[in-house]
Amino acid sequence: MKIAIIGTGIAGLTAAYKLNPNHEVTVFEAADRIGGHTATIDVELDGQHYQVDTGFIVFNDWTYPHFIELMDELGIAWRESDMSFGVQCQQTGLQYAGVTGRFAMYNGLFAQRSNLFSPAYIKMLLDILAFNRAAIADVENHTIPDMTLLEYLRHIGIGDRCRDQYLVPMTSAIWSTPFLQMYEFPVRFMLPFMYRHGLLNVHNRPRWRTLVGGSQAYLEPMSAPFADRIHLSTPVTQVRRYDGGVLVSSARGQEHFDHVVFACHSDQCLNILGDASSAESNVLSAIRYQANDVVLHSDVRVMPDNRRAWASWNYYLPAQPAGLPRVTYDMNRLMGIEAPVNFLVSLNDTDRIEESQILGRYDYAHPVFTRAVADAQGRWEQINTATTSYCGAWWGKGFHEDGVVSALRVVARLSERKPATDATSRREPQAVVS
Ligand SMILES: Cc1cc2nc3c(=O)[nH]c(=O)nc-3n(C[C@H](O)[C@H](O)[C@H](O)COP(=O)(O)OP(=O)(O)OC[C@H]3O[C@@H](n4cnc5c(N)ncnc54)[C@H](O)[C@@H]3O)c2cc1C
Repeated sequence: MKIAIIGTGIAGLTAAYKLNPNHEVTVFEAADRIGGHTATIDVELDGQHYQVDTGFIVFNDWTYPHFIELMDELGIAWRESDMSFGVQCQQTGLQYAGVTGRFAMYNGLFAQRSNLFSPAYIKMLLDILAFNRAAIADVENHTIPDMTLLEYLRHIGIGDRCRDQYLVPMTSAIWSTPFLQMYEFPVRFMLPFMYRHGLLNVHNRPRWRTLVGGSQAYLEPMSAPFADRIHLSTPVTQVRRYDGGVLVSSARGQEHFDHVVFACHSDQCLNILGDASSAESNVLSAIRYQANDVVLHSDVRVMPDNRRAWASWNYYLPAQPAGLPRVTYDMNRLMGIEAPVNFLVSLNDTDRIEESQILGRYDYAHPVFTRAVADAQGRWEQINTATTSYCGAWWGKGFHEDGVVSALRVVARLSERKPATDATSRREPQAVVS
């Protein structure tokens, strides 16, 4: 079949890599580079080059089996990463980090030594353990109630401090979701994710990794077999389906394909579709995306002033926690970079960063997970047709593995289909230019 693929994030590239050469793939990319959220920046400092990720950074040995298989197939090397999470609260002055390793763990949790004697802080730590126990039991016994996080925490009797200075910061950082919006997050979606990622355990956790050379390492080897059929800076402006085919409009004109694979975000799909069915409109509009302001910089003032509270992911909780989460990734720690400066990637915290220390600004959107998303995701079969397929990390929990799995599902479905029949037998619309 002649297949158009829209988008070159992990989903679009996986689809193209697996469909080629059995099908004739043509790949459209709006940006002037491939990769989407796989975006490694080359930073030059005093004649040295450093590869720093600004989007996708880490994966682990528990929950990324298909991505790892793909990397192994391509021969891409990885290294162990150092994954940890910390919070600094503007209102209370609390600073702590949850670091692995017995001594490191206590050193980080009690970064502020006065917390050793704080009943409120000790209660927060005990509540974390109580939450973990209750959540593990509910996941394992299949008894997760249909509740929001707020309802669930009340239901199992967890205090406000554990909620607002641990659980909500951590989960809002994971899903780049505003602090207050996390109260409404469905626990049916959240708890299995936390369980699978070892976030409900103190010790037994997955090992996190980064790709050697940055996440970009797989882009060239993966796209090489069809590199001549990737069209950069060529956003698809419209897709229209007709009996037996698809008409794709872009700066290249209007082109006919047997099939189109959407590998861009749900809202972008809806914008391009010139003839969305009501099922497509319902499903695609139920999974919303939210823009994040991402800055690569070296301004350590956004980090906790107590060095013991530094973690790989650092959540800043402002006195009024409205708006998107403010998170800073310590890239030196995550990627094992040895440099005279700290490379930091901050999300939605630009107003606290000194302009002269900014190395780059990016705009990456994250899917917003609400109760409606699970229903919409369950309707995938309804909107994948003879001419149209959908993939993207938004079909899962929004991570790289989800991007791969969503693309493999499309590939499996297309592989069951017969090759294109005689193209001349198709009924094509009249207003076709090329
Ligand atoms: C800051 C940040 C950090 C993250 N860190 C991690 C991490 O450590 N681990 C992890 O697993 N996940 C992480 N993620 C999640 C990440 O979003 C997913 O892992 C994954 O990369 C998303 O892939 P995708 O293919 O679905 O979408 P994208 O990578 O967003 O790709 C979509 C592509 O479609 C293109 N496109 C859009 N419209 C059009 C059009 N009209 N025509 C042509 N092309 C178009 C876009 O330009 C883009 O290239 C992170 C996300 C962000 C924002």
